Amino acid sequence: MVSLDHISFPAYLGVDVGGTTIKIGIVDNSGRSFAHGKIDTDHERGPEDGVRRIIEFAEGLLAESGLNWEQIRAIGLGTPGTMDVKQGMLLHMPNMSGWDHFPIRSYLADQTDKPVAFLNDANAAAYGEYWVGRGQECDSLVMFTLGTGVGGGIIIHDITLDGAHSHGSELGHITIDSSADARQCPCGQFGHLEAYVSATSVAKRTQEQLDEGEESSLQTTWSEQGMVSSLDVATHAEQGDEFANRIIRETGHYLAIGITSVLHMIDPDIVVLGGAMNFGGHQTRAGRAFLEAIRQRTRELTFPVLAENTIIDFATLGSDSGFIGAAGVARKQFG
Ligand SMILES: [Zn+2]
Repeated sequence: MVSLDHISFPAYLGVDVGGTTIKIGIVDNSGRSFAHGKIDTDHERGPEDGVRRIIEFAEGLLAESGLNWEQIRAIGLGTPGTMDVKQGMLLHMPNMSGWDHFPIRSYLADQTDKPVAFLNDANAAAYGEYWVGRGQECDSLVMFTLGTGVGGGIIIHDITLDGAHSHGSELGHITIDSSADARQCPCGQFGHLEAYVSATSVAKRTQEQLDEGEESSLQTTWSEQGMVSSLDVATHAEQGDEFANRIIRETGHYLAIGITSVLHMIDPDIVVLGGAMNFGGHQTRAGRAFLEAIRQRTRELTFPVLAENTIIDFATLGSDSGFIGAAGVARKQFG
């Protein structure tokens, strides 16, 4: 914990709602998180109870930091699913039935008597990386969040690209394959990036090829467990399995097609890759090979000036980027 003497006031509360857990943290004016933790979402208890538990947990964080509500200027709130950002309203929350069409921004504001900044969780994560993460020296940033699905966030000159209808920055749903046999995305459309590079899609692509008889140490996992995860792919690639390494390179190549579209559209300073589906990131050979495959294919597909100058790298804040970024957007709107 940071000593109170070093906190730069005012402070902000950042909240990152997920389907399983809600991350909550107190972030100071310079972007340092000095108290944070998480609670179970327990979505079946409903959104009012969720908000009540968020506030209760925040009060605990304040108490252990020696702070009080008066020192919190505003709250930033990031949520998954579809939403109406302008109205502060959740629309459809996948796997969180009972939260649909809940006016979460005004409810949280009423319960705390604080202004609340509300945005998509992936945009919040991108803002966190832009403010104090991998993109903190940059003026514009694009972030792909690779997990069970694929999220996206775009920040240009300190502005999060929420869009006119709250569907801006949906990078998981840009088209990378328009052929007749393109893969189907969970959204129902075909050929979207998410259908190729999410953890779910990587597992599916791997299993299909194992079914076709690819020679690999993953065949044992596949026949014994009846499933293979992207984590298994990372593990076997790290142990030298050529098929697993090929899956990682292919995933990098698919992602590079999506990145190329975004580079030609936005021309950002940096593209940041966040989320747990990174094959180990900088820490492992498999993760570094993934990054190199993305960089190399992107270089081959883009204008030379973009290929030479755009940084592509893993995110640095991990799963903290969501609540830190949400707090950052609250600071931007109400600081
Ligand atoms: Zn889609």
